[in-house]
Amino acid sequence: MIFPKLVTWDVWKRSGHAKGVYPEIYYVCPPKTRDPKFWEEVADYYKVTLEVPIDKIASKIDKPIGGLCYAQCPPFWPFLQGETLPDDGFPLLVFDRSGTSHRYESGGIHGMERVDEFHRIELVFMGTQEQVLAHSEEMQKKYMHIFNDILDLEWRMAWVTPWFMAQEGLTGLADKGSIGTIDYEAVMPYKDEWLEFQNLSVNGDKYPKGFNVKSQSNQELWSGCSGIGLERWASAFYAQKGPDPDNWPDAFNKIVGKLPDGIKFL
Ligand code: ATP
Ligand code: ZN
Ligand code: MG
Repeated sequence: MIFPKLVTWDVWKRSGHAKGVYPEIYYVCPPKTRDPKFWEEVADYYKVTLEVPIDKIASKIDKPIGGLCYAQCPPFWPFLQGETLPDDGFPLLVFDRSGTSHRYESGGIHGMERVDEFHRIELVFMGTQEQVLAHSEEMQKKYMHIFNDILDLEWRMAWVTPWFMAQEGLTGLADKGSIGTIDYEAVMPYKDEWLEFQNLSVNGDKYPKGFNVKSQSNQELWSGCSGIGLERWASAFYAQKGPDPDNWPDAFNKIVGKLPDGIKFL
């Protein structure tokens, strides 16, 4: 699927992000009007001075209707909102790698591992509690295969309180093997730190409840999701293996093949 990348407040109210996402979102403000006359003085100012008059622009845009994609899966849920799904449609598995996520990371210079625009594959799964837990376990096995047998990374899993529980002060309540988040972390040898490069969450009934999604037999629905940060994968891989393909694992090179030469600069 292609998830929307402009997330309006109604979505973040239902997903729970409205409780605390404010310092990190890029806000989206529409123009007060599309009337070219209304905007003429901005265009004229630019043509004369070659400066963009941001104060004038600020007076001509409306209040934010929401923000740019922050966590990727929340704007998928309105697609299911208010629907009842047949039992044989579960587990429901959704894949999205359609675009960018945006976070205000406070302007400092970081490496590729912390950027304000990044790319993430998001996997969403939904079904009965048993189906969701089984799918999470299956994914954990696949991830282990990729990190051990293909990327050959030094990595670890960290069991953490999911963001929506942390937000409500429910730290420490997540039981292993049930609702909760696994952070996948890789060691960054050049600074001797661990970097979260992706995660996998079982979110319980939070999303189906928040977006009023039901099953035919009225069983409790659970869901989970996994966010695979591609800049973080690249950071971890380059940090551990270096930029030279000759030093990359054979299994990886076999899949990737020979990369084309990059763009050259003088
Ligand atoms: P961190 O604590 O490092 O800021 P986070 O807890 O904010 O990470 P999540 O909210 O769990 O990260 O986001 C899911 C995934 O998105 C992360 O595992 C990571 O792969 C990726 N990600 C998050 N923020 C960034 C960023 N600023 N630049 C690149 N990738 C990011
Ligand atoms: Zn998600
Ligand atoms: Mg963060």
